[in-house]
Amino acid sequence: MRFDVVSIFPEYLAPLDLSLIGKARTEGLLELVVHDLRSYTADRHRTVDDTPYGGGAGMVMKPEPWAQALTDIAATSPAADGARPTLIVPAPAGEVFNQALAYELAQEKHLVFACGRYEGIDERVLEWAAEDYIVRPVSLGDYVLNGGEVAVLAMVEAIGRLIPGVVGNPESLIEESHSDGLLEYPVYTKPSSWRDREVPEVLLSGNHGKIAKFRREHQLRRTAERRPDLIDALDVSNFSKAERNV
Ligand code: SAM
Repeated sequence: MRFDVVSIFPEYLAPLDLSLIGKARTEGLLELVVHDLRSYTADRHRTVDDTPYGGGAGMVMKPEPWAQALTDIAATSPAADGARPTLIVPAPAGEVFNQALAYELAQEKHLVFACGRYEGIDERVLEWAAEDYIVRPVSLGDYVLNGGEVAVLAMVEAIGRLIPGVVGNPESLIEESHSDGLLEYPVYTKPSSWRDREVPEVLLSGNHGKIAKFRREHQLRRTAERRPDLIDALDVSNFSKAERNV
């Protein structure tokens, strides 16, 4: 799988050299190329922004450097048989990123991320890019960041760890928060007694059935307490009567 990231701050993406994603890159499980948008400008000042039509505060990213960068990247896309790569445009006005979208995007061969700055990218770039890309404005959440780079760090990590081989033990992906619409149960490690606090006894019992029941109950309880919106979205027809009462 290939990721291309276009930014005016390529060094912002340096953490993607580290940890599991960095290792996956070294091992060739994923390819990640960061492009400096300013290298696609034609003027001496390497200008990427200009004042907004209609007035108002802030600057808007000029369309032409984006067109140059995206044309270049599309020309070398590994997307199969003329299929369009997906262009993710981080934006607070996009669909909200979640684990389901991470799974969906992890199936793609080629994802390109266009990091906006200032008041965002000239809207015509998104319309124009739709000829060569599947264009998806995506939000990290309902708040405003200074630029798309932080959103890209989060999305690349969430998507990248779903690529087979990136996470050492694939089983650790199965029971995670959001994998089945619920939050994860609480986890504990040694020592079993720590500062007068005990690990729940059932986890020391070796009884797999009881442990699974304990975890499931805690998943449901924690989700109901912290994220009732997730419970509302669940199909409870597969739940046991006891689970529905948690
Ligand atoms: N004027 C824009 C608005 O109100 O929708 C916000 C622009 S923001 C200051 C600059 C850039 O940060 C955006 O173009 C986008 O790339 C990124 N950004 C900000 N908040 C984001 C979020 N919640 N999710 C994803 N990207 C975000």
